[in-house]
Amino acid sequence: MKIGIPKEIKNNENRVALTPAGAKELTKRGHQVFVQQSAGLGSGFSDQQYEQGGAKILPTIQDVYGVGEMILKVKEPIEEEYSLIQEDQLLFTYFHFASYEPLAKAMIQSKAVCLAYETVEKPDRSLPLLVPMSEVAGRMAIQKGANYLEKPLGGRGILLGGVPGTLPAKVLILGGGIVGTHAAWMAAGLGADVTILDVSLPRMRYLADIMPANVKTMMSNEFNIRKLLPTADLVVGAVLIPGAKAPHLITKDMLSLMTEGSVLVDVAVDQGGCIETCKPTTHEDPTYVIDGVLHYCVANMPGAVPYTSTLALTNATLPYALELADKGWKEACKQHQDLELGLNIIHGEVVYKAVADTFGLPH
Ligand code: NAD
Repeated sequence: MKIGIPKEIKNNENRVALTPAGAKELTKRGHQVFVQQSAGLGSGFSDQQYEQGGAKILPTIQDVYGVGEMILKVKEPIEEEYSLIQEDQLLFTYFHFASYEPLAKAMIQSKAVCLAYETVEKPDRSLPLLVPMSEVAGRMAIQKGANYLEKPLGGRGILLGGVPGTLPAKVLILGGGIVGTHAAWMAAGLGADVTILDVSLPRMRYLADIMPANVKTMMSNEFNIRKLLPTADLVVGAVLIPGAKAPHLITKDMLSLMTEGSVLVDVAVDQGGCIETCKPTTHEDPTYVIDGVLHYCVANMPGAVPYTSTLALTNATLPYALELADKGWKEACKQHQDLELGLNIIHGEVVYKAVADTFGLPH
C-alpha cells in the first residue's frame, strides 16, 4: 500500500503520525511510505532518518495527499486540507467529529474513509489511542504544578517534596483514571503527600494496591473536597464521565477555602473542566489567577512535548496502521473489532452512531 504522511499544519502542532522506525516497519513489509519534507522536524526526526527507514520524501502536502492510499495524521484535517482528500482514500487520524461540524460535512462530501483514533475501542471499553496522551498529560500536570508553585511564577513558594525537616506539599488529584494515576506516580516520586479522589471503589482498591505509601485514596464528594481544599497546595482535575461534560467538583465559592498561591491544573479542560472557574488556555498564555488561586488549563498539554508525545502516540497507532496497510481497511476492520469501532464515515455515510446522532443523521 502507498502511505502518505503529511506535515501537520494546525497551529502549534509539532507531532507527526509516523516515526522513522515506523516507516522502516512498513517498508520492510513491502509498503511504500511518502513523507512530506520536514514533517518530522518538530518532533526531532530529520528527512534523512525517514529515508534511512525506506521512506521517500516529497516536497509538498499536495504531493503526499496525491499519492497516498492511506493518509496517517495526528490532528483532524483543517480547512486547507479538505480539498486535498480524495474519494476512497483512507484517513487514519484524530477527528473528534462531534466538535467540528464543518469537518464532518467536508469528509462526507469527500467520500473518503475516515477511521478515527478516538473511537478505536477495546472490548474492555478502553480507548487505546487516547490513553497515551492521557499518560503524557497526567505526568505533565505535576511538572507544571510544581513549577507554578514557585514564587516567581505566582505560586505560594513550596517545594513539592519539601526537604528533611519540612513537610512536603499536599497534592489532591480529582479522578484516578489514566491522567490521575500518572499524575499520582509523578507527585509521589517527588515526595509529595498525595490524595486521589474517585467515585469508583474498585478503582480506588486497585490504586491503593499499586501506589506507594505517600498516596492515599478518598471517596470523591463535596464534603471531602471542601475538607481537603484548605490544606491543598496543588489540585489536579482529571475526571472523565464518558460522553458527558465534566462535573464541576470545585465551584467558584470553594476557591475561598484555598490558600493564596495554591495551584489548580485542570487537565479535564477539554471536556469543560471539573473546576468551575476553568477556561481553556494555550501554551503561549497558560495561566490566570482567580481569588488568589493560580489556574493552568491548557487544552492540548501533550503538544508541549512533541518528541515524547509522537513516540507515545505512534507506539499505539503503528500496530493498527500495519494491519490496515497489510490487509486493507475492510479486511482489517472485519478481523479487529476495536479497529472497526474507529470507522466514523465511509464513502459519504456516517457509520458511527454518536456522530450521526450529533448531526441528526441516519446511520
Ligand atoms: P479516565 O476515564 O481514565 O479517568 C477518569 C476517572 O474519573 C475515572 O477513574 C472515574 O471513575 C473518575 N470520576 C468520574 N466521576 C468522578 C467524580 N465525580 N469525582 C472523582 N472522580 C470521578 O480518563 P482520563 O484518560 O484520565 O482523562 C481525564 C480527562 O483528561 C479527560 O477529560 C480527558 O479528555 C482529559 N485529557 C486532557 C488532556 C489535555 O491536554 N488537557 C490530555 C489528555 C486527556
